[in-house]
Amino acid sequence: MYSLSLYMLFNEVIGNKELKSQLIHTIQSKRISHAQLFLENEGSGGFALALAYVRYLLCENKNEDDACGTCRNCTRMDKLEHPDVHFSFPIHASKTDKINTSDDVLPIFRNLVKTNPYFGLEDWYQELGNSNKQGNIPVEEAHLISKKLSLKSFEGGYKVLIMWLPEFMKGPASNNLLKLLEEPPNNTLFILVSQKADNIISTILSRTQIIRILPPKNDEIKSYLVSEYGLNEIEAENNTHLSERNITEAIRLSQQLESSSFNIENFVHWMRICYKRSVPDTIDWVEQMAKSGRETQKSFLKFCLQMFRNSIVGHYTQGETVVMTADQRSFLEKFSPYINHNNIVLLSKAIDDAHYHIERNANPKILFMDLSLKIFLQLKKA
Ligand SMILES: [Zn+2]
Repeated sequence: MYSLSLYMLFNEVIGNKELKSQLIHTIQSKRISHAQLFLENEGSGGFALALAYVRYLLCENKNEDDACGTCRNCTRMDKLEHPDVHFSFPIHASKTDKINTSDDVLPIFRNLVKTNPYFGLEDWYQELGNSNKQGNIPVEEAHLISKKLSLKSFEGGYKVLIMWLPEFMKGPASNNLLKLLEEPPNNTLFILVSQKADNIISTILSRTQIIRILPPKNDEIKSYLVSEYGLNEIEAENNTHLSERNITEAIRLSQQLESSSFNIENFVHWMRICYKRSVPDTIDWVEQMAKSGRETQKSFLKFCLQMFRNSIVGHYTQGETVVMTADQRSFLEKFSPYINHNNIVLLSKAIDDAHYHIERNANPKILFMDLSLKIFLQLKKA
């Protein structure tokens, strides 16, 4: 469902129409301030806008109002692999995992940006595998940045640093960046995309030009959810309203909706084939599951656990916002007696174990086949 289209042309970035023209104008009139702070509330598209701006700057064949999208530099920007464009962002530094700077997790970051250019901090931490741990931009990162920017540019033009959330720098890192801003190497452009200017030292703030990014309008969010996430009008309206003009949040809500309808459909299908003990159907299903991502598999297993527990209390929708079709509901009503006090403990344990092993990179084909066989046996007992 997620699109992997071009990232990012100005006309693809949601909202901020006037600001886009202003930004384009600064490039056309060659009045580019060397340090700019894109200041936004989460979910206003600041990072996507920074990408569009840099792309326009570097495009070899720009139009009046947008980059060409096809030149060599545009193609490199699509992949987020332009040799003169550097990214910096909060990380979970770890000596044991050899994560010292943004570069060590850059492929994960690129992937997230390509999947959802309106990602937020929560989404990023989830990608890093630890939603609860605070990130930071360590001093090693600041050293690396000065090293990169002191080199000659590959293309003879601008060298760019896009730093996402500079507020995550502590004292030593901030001081290093400040030094760079005070005495910038030739032809460098710093774009800091911040959601909390209060947490940035004032000497850095006073060195930057502040660009305010406005939250997108409701109808802009709504049509994005319809076109990119396949929501119907009512769902899109609903998520837009709940998000309070935060596109990041609106997308999160839409992803949850998408995964909840996938989970219920998948659960009903799986239990049907387990109940019938159909081996060929199970093999097909296992193949499909193995192809889905690890996060999808984990979320599905959690969902199954919840469904088994709900069977015991005879309440499928308890504490959950599961929207079911009449067909799914009637299957579950007939199925529910097969989950009971005799098998719930073993079933729960089997699911829990599978979840544990997926986190540790177990082979998903073997894992889901084994799990299906365990469920065959437990349903038989019932
Ligand atoms: Zn171009």
